[in-house]
Amino acid sequence: MEALAKMVTVTLPDGTRKQVPAGTTLAQIAASIGPRLAEAALAGKIDGKLVDLSRPIDHDASVEIVTARSPEAVDLYRHSTAHLTANAVKRLFPEVQIGIGPAIEHGYYYDFNPKRPFTPEDLAAIEAEMKKIVAENNPVERLEMSKAEAVKIFEGQNDALKVEIIRGIPDDRVSCYRQKDFIDLCRGPHVPSTGKLGVFKLTHTAGAYWKGDEKNPMLQRIYGAAFLTQKELDEHLRRLEEAKARDHRKLGKELDLVVFHPWAPASPFFLPKGASIYNGMVEFLRSEYRKRGYDEVVTPQIFDVELFKTSGHLANYRENMFFTKAEEREFGVKPMNCPGHFLMYQSRLWSYRDLPVRLADFGRLHRFELSGVTAGLTRVRTFVTDDAHIFTPLDKVESEIFAFLDFLDFVYRSFGFMEVQISLGLRPEKRIGTDEQWERGEKALDAALQKTGRAYTVSPGDGAFYGPKIDFRVQDAIGRPWQLGTIQCDFAQPENFDLTYIGEDGKPHRPVVLHRAILGSLERFFGILIEHTAGNFPFWIAPVQAVVLPVSDRFAEAARTAAETLRSAGLRIAVDDRNEKLGARIRQAELAKTPCMLVVGEKEAAAGTVSVRLRHGGDAGTLSIEDYTAAALRCVASRGGEFVTEVKDR
Ligand SMILES: [Zn+2]
Ligand SMILES: [Zn+2]
Repeated sequence: MEALAKMVTVTLPDGTRKQVPAGTTLAQIAASIGPRLAEAALAGKIDGKLVDLSRPIDHDASVEIVTARSPEAVDLYRHSTAHLTANAVKRLFPEVQIGIGPAIEHGYYYDFNPKRPFTPEDLAAIEAEMKKIVAENNPVERLEMSKAEAVKIFEGQNDALKVEIIRGIPDDRVSCYRQKDFIDLCRGPHVPSTGKLGVFKLTHTAGAYWKGDEKNPMLQRIYGAAFLTQKELDEHLRRLEEAKARDHRKLGKELDLVVFHPWAPASPFFLPKGASIYNGMVEFLRSEYRKRGYDEVVTPQIFDVELFKTSGHLANYRENMFFTKAEEREFGVKPMNCPGHFLMYQSRLWSYRDLPVRLADFGRLHRFELSGVTAGLTRVRTFVTDDAHIFTPLDKVESEIFAFLDFLDFVYRSFGFMEVQISLGLRPEKRIGTDEQWERGEKALDAALQKTGRAYTVSPGDGAFYGPKIDFRVQDAIGRPWQLGTIQCDFAQPENFDLTYIGEDGKPHRPVVLHRAILGSLERFFGILIEHTAGNFPFWIAPVQAVVLPVSDRFAEAARTAAETLRSAGLRIAVDDRNEKLGARIRQAELAKTPCMLVVGEKEAAAGTVSVRLRHGGDAGTLSIEDYTAAALRCVASRGGEFVTEVKDR
């Protein structure tokens, strides 16, 4: 025993100071405060740095005990659960090599290199083994060693991936963590023992390239959900189930909306019903453009790369573009509409009286996405946006943003998105334009937002490369946020393209360009709409608004006549007169999520009426064809979600 133990002063979060012998661990500090804290402790902080509870204190320091209530706890817990997963995998499949296992949103993943892909049965077995290791309550120890020692350990257990990581670490010494029979290379920190863990669920596996590089071997990634409380985990799993049932890839297929083909990777084919919805979106926006002072234009798809040099896309966006060569000239396929719109703006003279000019474009865009991104509509290589560019003097930016907000709210409500979150993105690291231009742009957007009186958050670094922006996010029916709309202030491109207008003073001035979209990519929005509505599309845009169902063959003629009348009024109507029981045909229409089922039997055929059943159960009574038509058209005009006979003002 040292005669003169060095003492250090620790300062607790409440300001209390304690003298303790140097070398006292955070666990001992927790225990000295009380047994409940010692029990709840997961890790600690020394001078703000997150460390293991076993970490000794060797200098005067501020210390903090991290419990489940601390903001750092959840990632620590998730990452420790990743080690737990690897521990279980190594016990069950000793030959499997281990990769890395970080915490992510809602849980964690761990990458493995197994001889064959993990099966659902494997996952169940791994999960059971994890529970066993939790019950064993094995201490988790930190071991510091030289790189050579670490290499020896991982070579000894045939973990080539780990050896590769260790060789890439610049420091001489590395740390490993051991929990009884399992050792992993890690910086830490971790919970002090496996018994602290237990709230998790292995959710799925996926292929993942080692280090995210497709030149590397494909590994198997096990995803786990992990939370600090069972209640949060249950809630998360319930949401996952709901999301699965609404998955747009699944519903897109089941409802005959979209297909894909390997010869057009990440490029959707819209089937007739899908195209009906897609074109419905475009028509809706077009009709609003006409009311709101936008002019629609049509512009080329492919441009000489000179255009993209001028716009800065070649320097800043090249890796997302497709290129092609013809007549020895290099061309780029446009990833955005803006550069083409600048050429169009340049093609004539503008006066301050002409501005703001708002050019809208449903031009098809192409952006390169790595193959291997999952099939679906949310990340595609070809798409159309509800894109427009507003050329305006600076002093009108504010009123343009006001008008845009009104437009955006109206569109979101029409699709059943009621909650909108707003964020202001400021200058990113990689950008064009001068600091002075950024200053002016950021101020203009901020001032406009403040005047709206709406809540918004500020995100430094989140701007586009050419200017600051406001982003709009909606929440879907199961609470997931989706970023949709944007309005971006651009001072740089008008300089690059030498855009001018003649001011009141008779001199040329620079306009500001506002890039704006409400739905963003229509393809992606389509996917989001499928998941938001679970395929129950709003009545006004449903691909089939009503299906007419004759009770039997005898009324097929009357049903077809009714359908013709409804169609000529502009409604989208199907007839199902197949030789099947009425009940079976109703069930099919419900599965197809058709808003209305119009039944025609003896009485209806004689009276020229239809009996109206609704998709969520219930009915709207028996209506004459004229009354149904009038009510349906009112629902369409008011952008109604469901068919109702009386439209109330919203
Ligand atoms: Zn770790
Ligand atoms: Zn643009």
